[in-house]
Amino acid sequence: MRILIIEDEEALRELLEYEFSRQDVTVVALDNANDALMAVEDCPPDLILLDLMLPGLKGLQFLDILRRGGSDLPVVIISARNAETDIINALERGADDYVTKPFSFNFLEAKIKAVLRRGGEVKTGARIAAGGVSVDLEAHKSFAEGELLSLTQKEFELLTLFMRKPGRAFTRNQLLNIIWGYDTSLVSRTVDVHVASLRKKLGDKGRYIQTVPKIGYLWEV
Ligand code: CA
Repeated sequence: MRILIIEDEEALRELLEYEFSRQDVTVVALDNANDALMAVEDCPPDLILLDLMLPGLKGLQFLDILRRGGSDLPVVIISARNAETDIINALERGADDYVTKPFSFNFLEAKIKAVLRRGGEVKTGARIAAGGVSVDLEAHKSFAEGELLSLTQKEFELLTLFMRKPGRAFTRNQLLNIIWGYDTSLVSRTVDVHVASLRKKLGDKGRYIQTVPKIGYLWEV
């Protein structure tokens, strides 16, 4: 699972990153909402944690832009503003839930799980399919020629990313950033290992993952 955190308070951002990393959640943490707009466009997360008082674009402005663009990505507000009017306003503008600061990680986690459960009920049939390969995003399952694939979490995320952006070449560093959530060229071999394993599991469909010399990989059916 991928969570995008938009929070300008460094200590809280780092704490959340740390706690989520222990839960096998991939975190992208940003200190402003302007960068977040691009991050969402580039690779939509499963859920967004959004602070309200931010430098530059404010949390609610970000939320407005997101919803106007037709995105129904789950958004949970994390804010020190605890007035009832603030909470109601955020919910009416399209936030899925609102957690006031300070909060415990366990409380936040329970809220996130509840939001994701709700989302799962309404968004049935979120499915990507091409060339005999399909990914069921809700059931978190993938198939090749109708056969269930047994992919690891990272392989599943790789496949989903590739299939969402057919024909787009990803560099190893981009894949590391998006799937693993960090940036270091030292471990770009990690990407190669996972791609090789994913290709193997896809059988003859593995050929859809093409190597782009000196760049990385792309998916094309
Ligand atoms: Ca803030």
